[in-house]
Amino acid sequence: MSSRKHCLGEGNVRVYGATVDEETRCVHFLSERDAVAILLPCCDRFYPCFRCHDEDADHRLERWPRSAWGESAILCGACSVTLTIATYLEVDRCPACAAGFNPAFAMHAPHYFELDVPTSAVASAGERADGRNALARFAA
Ligand SMILES: [Zn+2]
Ligand SMILES: [Zn+2]
Ligand SMILES: [Zn+2]
Repeated sequence: MSSRKHCLGEGNVRVYGATVDEETRCVHFLSERDAVAILLPCCDRFYPCFRCHDEDADHRLERWPRSAWGESAILCGACSVTLTIATYLEVDRCPACAAGFNPAFAMHAPHYFELDVPTSAVASAGERADGRNALARFAA
């Protein structure tokens, strides 16, 4: 588990799953702006999307914990540069080649990264907001 080996040389990265072209698009997400693959911590493999992972892997997908957001886990399919998770979540296009990233990815991000807002947690939003307000009171 602890000896994760990265071999991220440019053009050297194997992307698993149902890719349909050289830019990591897959059968699930085909738009212009879906040329991104994500390294998943559970198997140390790049997949174009979580559905590719589910179809290809024999285990449950693990998400990146927030403490690992400095990992170069995002591969731009257009130029093969890798970005850290933190960078990827901040930008809307590749800093290296300016290929646009899919804004809809925000909806899928909780599948890959431990975010404050889980996909289906609208119900607990009030709870969380209360927690934040309480903290804000202390901070003020
Ligand atoms: Zn996996
Ligand atoms: Zn896919
Ligand atoms: Zn790029």
